[in-house]
Amino acid sequence: MEKKQTIWNKSDRQALDAFCEDYRKFLSASKTERENVTNMTAELRAAGAVSLEEVIASGKKPAPGDLIYSDVMKKSLVIFRIGKRPLTDGLRLLGAHIDSPRLDLKQHPLYEDNNLAMMETHYYGGIKKYQWVTVPLALHGVVAKKDGSIVEICIGEKPSDPVLGVSDLLIHLSANQMSKKVSDAVTGENLNILVGSIPLEGQEKEAVKARILDILKAEYGIEDDDFVSAEIEAVPAGEARDYGLDRSMIMGYGQDDRVCAYTSFRAIMDLADPEYTGICVLADKEEIGSVGATGMHARFFENILAEMMELMGCYSELELRRLLTKTKVLSSDVSAGFDPNYPEVMEKNNCAYMGKGPVFNKYTGSRGKSGSNDANAEYIAFLRNLMDEGGIIYQTSELGKVDEGGGGTIAYILANLGMEVIDFGVPVLNMHAPWEISSKADVYETYRAYKVFLK
Ligand code: MN
Ligand code: MN
Repeated sequence: MEKKQTIWNKSDRQALDAFCEDYRKFLSASKTERENVTNMTAELRAAGAVSLEEVIASGKKPAPGDLIYSDVMKKSLVIFRIGKRPLTDGLRLLGAHIDSPRLDLKQHPLYEDNNLAMMETHYYGGIKKYQWVTVPLALHGVVAKKDGSIVEICIGEKPSDPVLGVSDLLIHLSANQMSKKVSDAVTGENLNILVGSIPLEGQEKEAVKARILDILKAEYGIEDDDFVSAEIEAVPAGEARDYGLDRSMIMGYGQDDRVCAYTSFRAIMDLADPEYTGICVLADKEEIGSVGATGMHARFFENILAEMMELMGCYSELELRRLLTKTKVLSSDVSAGFDPNYPEVMEKNNCAYMGKGPVFNKYTGSRGKSGSNDANAEYIAFLRNLMDEGGIIYQTSELGKVDEGGGGTIAYILANLGMEVIDFGVPVLNMHAPWEISSKADVYETYRAYKVFLK
């Protein structure tokens, strides 16, 4: 009998494990969009990349093989690998997002309630609120001070650090809570983080809060009002871990969509000499509708592309529009993996399975594909051929059964510019939960698939 080919038995296992260990470490160290940009920029610099601003200042025309990057307000990142063909022949674009669901601190977060110091949060993105109570949380982010300085915050990651969290009601007094719908059992307004309980000596009013403010002043130089100009995210504390007795998976926070961001990043880093210019766009704000100046709806991508065309001596508004329509895109975002505990939401002929490789979603959306990018058959045929020639194991899926729910990615936004686009990424379990799960086989095969696409 012929042996069935799987990613596990066809792959160089040493290379697969090494890649996934790099990914696990990256994931542990990159829990916010800003940290993601900072850590990738450091790797880019180490690999000899230069910023677009530096290239513009030098006035030098980029050459094939050059690695050039530009960040957008430190929260989105665009990376170019210059190809042998002229820019105007079109580009190969990998687009992922680097924001993930979490609890953001409000602008006036700190208060005291019966000798406990608490912090108010406003959740970001689609979360099942009950999943975020009783898990250890860390605070990551920045405080921008009036004098222009930035204070970086990261509390709860070192083994010696304290952790924080949101409490839940004890089962003994939960008769009322347990009779509610799951969506109402924990409310958004109740996702307050407990941060302290010792009163400040000699202080009469709100002494516990006063002591927390003392600590923040002493350790970070920040005051109560400084939270107004801060972006601090409460995220699950601790490292991403190997998952499963056979260590075949990774459990970590923010794999939607840093698993596709990292594999896209590595693909463009490891691609020395492509035919077409490759671009990796790592966008912020996907989880709240790709809004704001750093979200995919903003014009930063077109602006950066225009700058690059100017450097190459080929910019005009018309050439830019033409270039966009000649560009092929993989919207690299995660999809739902089949979960044996919840088979009822999937239709088994059209769903993604863990370990069976990156997954094409021709469309996402909900209620009759509404809001989706419905990729062209011709483009999918082109990609099928590319993947087969590259020896990639891949699968196709829908996001659950018809009318079971739905979702979206940045695919439709890129398609609006006239590019060929399809969603193509890693299937995960526990999507949007504090700890999400991916298969190492899928992570590695996705990286290989992105390389084949860019090449
Ligand atoms: Mn996503
Ligand atoms: Mn998501």
